[in-house]
Amino acid sequence: MLNLRLGQLRRQRDEMRALADTDGLTGLPNRRAGLKRLEQHMRDARAGDGTLAVGFLDIDLFKRINDVHGHEAGDRVLVAVAATLTSAVRDPADVIRMGGEEFLVLLPGIGGATARARLEGMRSEVSAAGAGLGIEGLVVTASIGLATLLAEDTDAASLLRRADEAMYRAKRAGRDRVVDAEPDVAPDIRA
Ligand code: GH3
Ligand code: MG
Ligand code: MG
Repeated sequence: MLNLRLGQLRRQRDEMRALADTDGLTGLPNRRAGLKRLEQHMRDARAGDGTLAVGFLDIDLFKRINDVHGHEAGDRVLVAVAATLTSAVRDPADVIRMGGEEFLVLLPGIGGATARARLEGMRSEVSAAGAGLGIEGLVVTASIGLATLLAEDTDAASLLRRADEAMYRAKRAGRDRVVDAEPDVAPDIRA
């Protein structure tokens, strides 16, 4: 009896933990879980060849999507973007909903030029997914900041800060694009 009860409690505890790490709308890992995952990738990269890229994606003018098409349509966009990004990575745990209309894509083992091409692909797939929702007049675009792990990155925060700044540069440059935080860093100097 006691063993049965213990097993039940452990299962409940595991379910609670999974819920605490998961975004309710999209089913993606949330910020908390994503940061842990990123830190693990950073440790792995340091133990290996040092290659790791991240893409910080923010849906463009999402407030307007909500205003024009309704909050429910906005939710459908978020779910579609989540599914599209997830299908574009090897491991679904590498796409994180950071909050609101912001997503983080982790690209372990992938260097600057390849990461840029991958994120460009995701950007156009996100737009295609928006069009695929069949909501009249809906156009979905996204701005993405790319940052690659550098030797000076002591924690996840500094890598994320560069990706976030690059994303804001993409916004200022007119949105709907990928901006690389380190465009001039030669591949052999990265990490
Ligand atoms: P920008 O191109 O500069 O990023 O503009 P934006 O409108 O996307 O940015 P802003 O931060 O002004 O608006 C984000 C909006 O996202 C505001 C908020 O109401 C909406 N939002 C956040 N979370 C959710 C959600 O779970 N569902 C829906 N439908 N909307 C959400
Ligand atoms: Mg935002
Ligand atoms: Mg936005």
